[in-house]
Amino acid sequence: MKKVLFASRNRGKIQEAKDILNSCGFQLISMDEFPHLPDVEEDGATFYENALKKASEISRQTGLATIADDSGLEVDFLDGKPGVHSSRFAGPHATDPENIRLLLKKLEGVSPEKRQAAFRCVLVYYRPDGFYKSFEGSLEGTIAPEPAGFGGFGYDPVFRPAGSETTVAQLDRESKNRISHRGRAFEELKKYLQE
Ligand code: IMP
Repeated sequence: MKKVLFASRNRGKIQEAKDILNSCGFQLISMDEFPHLPDVEEDGATFYENALKKASEISRQTGLATIADDSGLEVDFLDGKPGVHSSRFAGPHATDPENIRLLLKKLEGVSPEKRQAAFRCVLVYYRPDGFYKSFEGSLEGTIAPEPAGFGGFGYDPVFRPAGSETTVAQLDRESKNRISHRGRAFEELKKYLQE
């Protein structure tokens, strides 16, 4: 079976990627197999720049076909923030609950109609011969007034998909994969890899 490396150490993301890609004839391995490789700094201005940088650097270092993602939350009322800074919204080493607290504080008193947001994900598949291709997915929704649910990670407890009264953290893993920005981008990549 052909090996493809997913350049991530995030348990939630690795599981999501395996759930989707393992049925398409590729063996998906993660950065767990390369504990000594340093993390690539995500200093790009866009999700695409970060994903391309990560995929190309890790592919060069490992000699493997590599998938890298960059993703985050864009909130309309905050002019698209936190965006590429989603994981460090409340500071360089912020935890998920700290980021959520800051987000809810910035949206305090903002009416439900103005709480629109979207999760976005860009994936880049990069081959050792230098060929690469990118895939995108998004999930539109709103920011809830308070956290609910224990599934997923990041901003899932405060993100309600459009038309839903429950948050992504209240969905089981399979249901999240079906609708999520990353799930959608991975489905596109899967179609491509199967062709
Ligand atoms: P990165 O793609 O690893 O740089 O992660 C960006 C950040 O965006 C994460 O740390 C989360 O805060 C947020 N994020 C990305 N995808 C999701 C998701 O599926 N659910 C909740 N938060 C997410």
